[in-house]
Amino acid sequence: MSLITAENVSKTYISGEITIDALKGLNFTIEPASFISFVGPSGSGKTTLLNLIGCLDAPTSGTLKVSDADVSLLGRKSAADFRGKNIGFIFQDFNLLPVLTVYENVEYPLLMVQDTPAEERRSRVLSLLDSVGMVGQKDKYPDQISGGQKQRVAVARALVTKPKLVLADEPTANLDHKTAYMVINIMKKMKDESGTTFIFSTHDQKVVGEAETIFTLEDGELAGKRTQGGNGHA
Ligand code: ADP
Ligand code: MG
Repeated sequence: MSLITAENVSKTYISGEITIDALKGLNFTIEPASFISFVGPSGSGKTTLLNLIGCLDAPTSGTLKVSDADVSLLGRKSAADFRGKNIGFIFQDFNLLPVLTVYENVEYPLLMVQDTPAEERRSRVLSLLDSVGMVGQKDKYPDQISGGQKQRVAVARALVTKPKLVLADEPTANLDHKTAYMVINIMKKMKDESGTTFIFSTHDQKVVGEAETIFTLEDGELAGKRTQGGNGHA
């Protein structure tokens, strides 16, 4: 069964006299344990779509199902609960909390949404930090590590609640190409290890080649879907 099903999903923003059709009748499915990218120029609707999948906003029309929940029908409180249990987020500007150490940043979502015993928290945090190659930096603060290292910590943080889905809106926009490529490959490795589906958006053709399936957005419409096996390095 598909993890995500979009049927005729549209999103229209209305501000005053101006109406913007940001998404125009999208249809697609995404399977569990996949590594997906939405690519398209600025303004094509990537952030709008990821916000809908992440239950941060609701479609204007159409049906969007994520892990069997119809996200257009969730109220605010249940959307927040659903997010906490099912979805991890990675941001363009990393969004680590500056007053917390690397270790504490990764542990933080567990303290917020789940009643996980201390020993289990500790072993999960350390094992994820190990997987992203950051266990040696666990006591540092965000301003003591590089951008690429921050994003690796953010990948660990997104996975700590064992979500079914991780969403990353332009996760490499603030990284140089080499680091961007490394971070995408860490995400891919974590997908293989955890079975969590990763969806990232980008306008960077150099990193998009690493995705297994690439959806192209153009002006709010799905302009193409490409699936590639093995190492998709272009
Ligand atoms: P992308 O992430 O691909 O750059 P967005 O999803 O941010 O694209 O934007 C798609 C379109 O919707 C753009 O025309 C943008 O200006 C418009 N848009 C995005 N968010 C809002 C909003 N909150 N209110 C009004 N228009 C918006
Ligand atoms: Mg965007």
